[in-house]
Amino acid sequence: MLRISQYLREIATAEREGVYPSPRRAQSGGETRPVVIWNLTRRCNLTCKHCYALSADHHYPGELSHEEICTVMDDLRAYGVPVLILSGGEPLLHPQLFEIASRAQGMGFYTALSSNGTMIDAAMADRIAAQHFDYVGVSIDGSRDTHDRFRRKVGAYDESMAGIRLLHERGVKTGLRYTFTDLNGQDFPFLLQLMKDEGVDKFYFSHLNYAGRGNIHRGRDAHFEATRQALDLLFETAWADAEAGSSRDYVTGNNDADAAYLLAWVGRRWPQWQAPLRARLVAWGGNASGVGVANIDSQGEVHPDTMWGHHQLGNVRERPFSAIWSDRSDPLMDGLKMHPRPVKGRCAECQHLALCGGNTRVRAHQLTGDYWAEDPGCYLDDNEIGLSQEAASRLARVALTPFSGKRRVIEVLSA
Ligand code: SF4
Repeated sequence: MLRISQYLREIATAEREGVYPSPRRAQSGGETRPVVIWNLTRRCNLTCKHCYALSADHHYPGELSHEEICTVMDDLRAYGVPVLILSGGEPLLHPQLFEIASRAQGMGFYTALSSNGTMIDAAMADRIAAQHFDYVGVSIDGSRDTHDRFRRKVGAYDESMAGIRLLHERGVKTGLRYTFTDLNGQDFPFLLQLMKDEGVDKFYFSHLNYAGRGNIHRGRDAHFEATRQALDLLFETAWADAEAGSSRDYVTGNNDADAAYLLAWVGRRWPQWQAPLRARLVAWGGNASGVGVANIDSQGEVHPDTMWGHHQLGNVRERPFSAIWSDRSDPLMDGLKMHPRPVKGRCAECQHLALCGGNTRVRAHQLTGDYWAEDPGCYLDDNEIGLSQEAASRLARVALTPFSGKRRVIEVLSA
């Protein structure tokens, strides 16, 4: 996740004080422990078009029991995992969600909730507020009609927005989670305004990643120019807030080329701050799959992140998460933990590799079958990534082809 507001606040401070602020010192020594996104259940009351978990509203057999979840939590805590993001499916459908959250908080985890928001009525909002989650993210994909089309349920927008308002009234820190595609890009300005009007604390701009239904619908990914225009607007909005001292946060995810795009945006305005910002972005390091972020699915399978649902590293029923996570015998995991990663094509020759990390390997794999091919979702041109003319003519770009899986699957999903 790229913390746009954090970096732009630093630029605002630098502009005010004439010196770039020193970064907060990271903890030294030891390996980074990942933020764990935990899909407690795959069940969901919605069947959204871009759902990476391919969730639906029925029981999925073989999900971890409460006792098994507690055992995993003990291991995560002992291993030093700092953050649990409780997700799904729809986590509010998990019968023991609040017991799990209480236990996590009692153990000292930063505990967040990721919900579609449609089940948050006044009673549920009271319960969530009483639970004191550190953060609750609710997915909103556009204005009413767009959102309902995405979420495949008429009324979903009104239900989710009502949930956000109820949480806001109770002082719960909330965020809008938005996935940008060519089907809902036109609604992005509306959502930025909605965030302000509703007093939402955080805006998470996610690019489309090619996992689950997001892969089936990858032919509707945003075009590069539309992505660039959306990011320009996001940066302008975040900058205005940073200058005004607002605490609203803007972050992006699922396309780490955003770091290079932000660096160029800052460089055009404040060339004097480009070098310190670059140092900050290199320290951040780009894509965190398999290193700074991990995923456990509802059946206990561990994945390098939520978008790698089709790649299992091991099951917590058979081995502790800590053992699975530190095991580099899996070739994907080994490569993800390398520094730099063994990427190929234009990513290997890109001047921004140190701050992008080679972006998401999921898109590369879904389109080429090679974990380490270029990320076809990179919207930067050859000049921007510093390719020589010789390299540019040698390295043909991976074509962004639509999904062509089994017809049976497509029919079910577009019903
Ligand atoms: S070419 Fe690859 S490494 Fe460079 S910015 Fe794009 S995705 Fe990142």
